[in-house]
Amino acid sequence: MNGQHIVVIGAGYAGITAATGAGRRCRVTLIAPEALFAQRIRQHETAAGHREHRPALAALIRGRSVTHRQARVGEIDLAGRKVLLEDGEAIGYDTLVYALGSSTAWRGVPGAAESAYGVERAAELRGRVRGAERPGTVAVVGGGATGIELAAELAEAYPAWQVRLVAAGRVGGWFSAKGRSHVLRELRRLGVQIQEEAEVTEVTRQGLLTARGPVEAEVVVWAAAMEPSPLAAQAGLGVADDGRALVDDRLRSLSHPEVHVVGDAASATVAGTGTLRMGCATALPMGRYVGKLLSGRTSEPFAYRYTLQCLSLGRRSGLVQLVRGDDAMRPTAYRGLTGRLVKAVILRGVAASLR
Ligand SMILES: Cc1cc2nc3c(=O)[nH]c(=O)nc-3n(C[C@H](O)[C@H](O)[C@H](O)COP(=O)(O)OP(=O)(O)OC[C@H]3O[C@@H](n4cnc5c(N)ncnc54)[C@H](O)[C@@H]3O)c2cc1C
Repeated sequence: MNGQHIVVIGAGYAGITAATGAGRRCRVTLIAPEALFAQRIRQHETAAGHREHRPALAALIRGRSVTHRQARVGEIDLAGRKVLLEDGEAIGYDTLVYALGSSTAWRGVPGAAESAYGVERAAELRGRVRGAERPGTVAVVGGGATGIELAAELAEAYPAWQVRLVAAGRVGGWFSAKGRSHVLRELRRLGVQIQEEAEVTEVTRQGLLTARGPVEAEVVVWAAAMEPSPLAAQAGLGVADDGRALVDDRLRSLSHPEVHVVGDAASATVAGTGTLRMGCATALPMGRYVGKLLSGRTSEPFAYRYTLQCLSLGRRSGLVQLVRGDDAMRPTAYRGLTGRLVKAVILRGVAASLR
């Protein structure tokens, strides 16, 4: 057992895999407020009332030299090499793994933070829709992957509700023509009304104000953007314009090499691939890599190539879009039930790879 003390903050896809990997040979303290693993890539399913898949963190770290401290980090003292917990305790480290992920970005839109549901509140959203005296309209804001998956899932699970998907640009506009037209067709099949090029300027008690006029809705879900935790910048780690911490080819902070940054919190640029986007697809390999690096099982630089992007479109349809290593679209896309089954296999693979 290596004598150094590694502190991992955050137990999402990146943090848990970094902790269990490093914990094969090092003493690790994992700090995160939750007792159950938060399956963020299934939050749209939670909103639709499907069974939640949340393994206990205790089960994921079993057999590794990892201690879970259930708490929130309030501050990081980089000079003193310690993290300060909101409950007052300070925990020192030799190496820090920063994996605090991201959360809903409200982008200063008036009324959004106060009146809309962020994806983190999927269970509350489910309660609100199910508990309503009579069905109404749910407006989902955001034409990216999260907005599309949420709109499809909600429309299928709550057919008495009208679901409207409101996007500032084109819904699924980055997919190949074949992929995008499948997304639009499936959303319409599920009864989703699509409003494109309608940037939301305000969330009101009546619904939304957009560049194309008002949209009435009893419930508003905000899936327009995610932003990294501000703690990195507040602590003094070097960050990019989007707030993600800048890292080198071993995912060490450029400003503080004793800190590794993984997952949505990291702005990692890989030769031949480019600057990685936020996603479980990048968070898991980053976490796994740092776990191996810290436990001496690799000394190679971090390498990453994209292979596909996938979406669920309700329970019976999906889209698997093949991409090049640099994430550029290939023309091939698997659609319908095939796409949904491939996505289901990927979800099972993600769950199995958390240790
Ligand atoms: C509905 C939905 C569907 C998605 N589907 C996909 C998909 O199909 N494919 C894909 O690639 N990506 C998908 N994503 C994105 C993916 O979920 C994120 O990119 C991924 O969760 C990032 O992992 P992470 O470990 O960096 O951070 P997170 O999963 O956000 O985990 C962050 C961790 O930090 C902890 N934390 C935060 N603040 C503190 C604090 N102050 N103190 C202590 N702990 C703290 C949290 O509790 C959590 O444990 C989806 C996201 C959503 C919302």
